[in-house]
Amino acid sequence: MTHSTFSSCRSAAVGAQLAEKGPLVDGYGRVLDYLRISVTDRCNLRCRYCMTEEGVPPLPHEAILSYEEIAQVARAAARRGVKKLRITGGEPLVRREIETLVRMLAAIEGIIDLAMTTNGILLERLASALAAAGLRRVNVSVDTVDPRRFAEITRGGDIRKLFAGIDAARSAGLHPVKLNCVATEYSTPSDLAGVKAYAASEKLDVRFIRQMHLPSGAFSAVEGGGGGDCPRCNRLRLSSDGLLRPCLFSDLGFSVRELGAEEALRRATAGKPRAGTRCTSHPMHRIGG
Ligand code: SAM
Ligand code: SF4
Repeated sequence: MTHSTFSSCRSAAVGAQLAEKGPLVDGYGRVLDYLRISVTDRCNLRCRYCMTEEGVPPLPHEAILSYEEIAQVARAAARRGVKKLRITGGEPLVRREIETLVRMLAAIEGIIDLAMTTNGILLERLASALAAAGLRRVNVSVDTVDPRRFAEITRGGDIRKLFAGIDAARSAGLHPVKLNCVATEYSTPSDLAGVKAYAASEKLDVRFIRQMHLPSGAFSAVEGGGGGDCPRCNRLRLSSDGLLRPCLFSDLGFSVRELGAEEALRRATAGKPRAGTRCTSHPMHRIGG
């Protein structure tokens, strides 16, 4: 795994003449067909590497996109060739009636993959409704399988709920269930070895992710996943407060409310940097990882 730290600003193709129709192709020839949607900045855990103990001052209700506004952006993206959507957060399952949004997104023509990244705590209750609404698969974040360490890292999380959530997701037919494990300054070798052994015994795929630091631009390719590999990046991100962001490691964001979804998509595509540099404007829990 290579670790890349970018301290200087790589030239973004801002101002590139990009097409009004057809696939979203950025200034470096990359086709953007994957939109990650953060639906809330709130969370029911407080992972030490992600949030402070008090959590985050929540965005005012009116700043958060409604489900219809999110679906409008997703429909506009699908018309420009986006095929994959992922719902994330904060914790997406704490947003009320999230299955309603899932149903709206699953109905969009051209969307062939609808996934979610979750901490899994509420999956036991919601997995079957999510599957019925059209969610295909989930990535569940698991940084340790030791109950005491889990409570420490998440500041109070109950790992029994996580395991019950993973079981519920499998029973509901969400497939595949993948695990995300972030190796952070709080991880021990036995946390990581434990997750690896659990994944093997449960026959679940696991992706190991190095802790990222947005303000300094520290990130790396994701072992077993597509993240962090700039030349192959196909992603755009929509934050819960309605900014289309070309890159996790960029301060650029284009308001879908102010510009309209089509124009925001066009500008975010034009603003995609060749490689990420750093982000000082938004924390991870607001952009969604
Ligand atoms: N709450 C959900 C969860 O934890 O899966 C979704 C949102 S969370 C921000 C998305 C992913 O980002 C999780 O897998 C989480 O572990 C990861 N993450 C959070 N902060 C990170 C950081 N500083 N570096 C790397 N990954 C991080
Ligand atoms: Fe919440 Fe996910 Fe951040 Fe943990 S990583 S605090 S579960 S948003």
